[in-house]
Amino acid sequence: MQGLMQQWPLLCSKVIDHAATYHPRREIVTRSVEGPIHRTNYREVRARSLQLAQRLESEGVKLGDRIATLAWNTWRHLECWYGILGIGAIYHTLNPRLFPDQIAWIMNDAEDRLVFVDLTFMPIIEAIAPKVPSLEKIIVLTDAAHMPETNLANVVCYEEWLAEADGDFAWKEFDETTAAGMCYTSGTTGNPKGVLYSHRSNVLHSMMAQQPDAMGLSSRDRLLPIVPLFHANGWGLALTCPMAGAAMVMPGAKMDGASVFELLTREKVTFSAAVPTVWLMLLQHLENEGGELPTLERVVIGGAACPRAVTQKFQDNYGVQVIHAWGMTEMSPLGSLCTIKPEYADLEGEALLDLEQKQGHPPFGVEMKVTDDANVERPWDGKTFGRLKVRGPSVASSYYKNTGPEAFDAEGWFDTGDVAHMDEHGYMQITDRAKDVIKSGGEWISTIDLENLAVGHPDVAEAAVIGLAHPKWDERPLLIIVRKEGREPSKEDILGFLNGKIAKWWMPDDVAFVAEIPHTATGKIQKTALRDQFRDYRLP
Ligand code: ADP
Repeated sequence: MQGLMQQWPLLCSKVIDHAATYHPRREIVTRSVEGPIHRTNYREVRARSLQLAQRLESEGVKLGDRIATLAWNTWRHLECWYGILGIGAIYHTLNPRLFPDQIAWIMNDAEDRLVFVDLTFMPIIEAIAPKVPSLEKIIVLTDAAHMPETNLANVVCYEEWLAEADGDFAWKEFDETTAAGMCYTSGTTGNPKGVLYSHRSNVLHSMMAQQPDAMGLSSRDRLLPIVPLFHANGWGLALTCPMAGAAMVMPGAKMDGASVFELLTREKVTFSAAVPTVWLMLLQHLENEGGELPTLERVVIGGAACPRAVTQKFQDNYGVQVIHAWGMTEMSPLGSLCTIKPEYADLEGEALLDLEQKQGHPPFGVEMKVTDDANVERPWDGKTFGRLKVRGPSVASSYYKNTGPEAFDAEGWFDTGDVAHMDEHGYMQITDRAKDVIKSGGEWISTIDLENLAVGHPDVAEAAVIGLAHPKWDERPLLIIVRKEGREPSKEDILGFLNGKIAKWWMPDDVAFVAEIPHTATGKIQKTALRDQFRDYRLP
């Protein structure tokens, strides 16, 4: 027997309708790319998004068309998202930090028809537009007074282009499984892969994010999303904030410590979200210049492991709760958040910090397991690690054009490519990337654990661990060290420091000293380059 409840399609346009109806005057404040602070609200953003949807339709944009954005977090970018998805087209966020040729490759793969671009990124679009034949028009996110000079054809000014529609328009209706948005993973191995969010997955993801043990946003929050909309679906915040009726404070192009501090304090921000690097810059600024964070209650930190010192300083020096989170572009992106369950309520000091180093527990809507290579589940003992697999309504079921099908199994589990362990209360901790973990004699060695230990040595500036082929054990660890300036620790000093802190068979077979360790565009250690560099290295 079927239930007798209404079919109310979970369309993203309903989220902005809700915000405009029940939180119409909630502010959206932006440090505009042009400079001044700009203020609007959900009612106005909805009205302009409708106008944008109407304008897109008159351009001939149809259901399923990909419309790119190359833009910072601003009110205009938000209007683009809702206007595009409101007629069943697909917002496709481009990451301006990639190499121009990668961006062109991605635009061609997606066959983007239009692009909305911020002033900052005009040089990028000028370089790549000739290489993207599908691109019909470039809409510059500014007003007539700020329009740049350009040699490109088909460039229009956003405000003028938008004004050509009168806004008398209604959202289109379609099935909730229709695609709403698109984001490519950065593709550290092979070409980038497209993830295609649906209206349903986006709406459900925001409801998941709203849970008190996840982000727990409310209409009383003023949120500063520093994480850009182009990074992993903007962590869902473009939907989660209006759903909660939370005010948004948009940083535009400025994410340095002083600029972030100014917005946090002047705009009375209560909640913020960003990667660790941004927080390191803010904390550095506070240490140099002084200052308090009187209104800030919580920060979500993810995208990379949150350094212990960041958590400790926020909590002890500024009274701000840190929520360490893990996610992936493929997961919309939230996977787990480290909020404190009653089982851990008594922890304090170092023990609490230990817990907060974990990436946390999944909200309702994410299933998680850790398996060995044969897909056998590993115990939840807080130390036995394996491949981290997830499934749920906001997890990808395949990539665009079915690239990388091997990551998805028949039971719907997505292999994240991360290696992790779970503890008895369901807290997950990432220990490595699957392609980096060292397989020695059939057992796994975490390179991240070894690196974290090695950088604890007072003479070590940076450390990386890679596995080198070994005739007996398959692979063995090589520890690569950058020494601190003016310090000369020996191999014996370093290994002696590790001794007693790890299992004997985890002990690196050798230590190599280098002047520097190569990094990727997003600041992660480039292990592929290190493996190339040390391919012919002979372990003792
Ligand atoms: P990009 O590679 O562009 O950063 P993603 O945001 O999708 O794209 O990257 C997801 C990956 O980032 C995860 O699979 C994981 O390896 C890493 N990651 C994300 N959050 C954390 C975290 N809190 N701790 C450790 N690693 C993390």
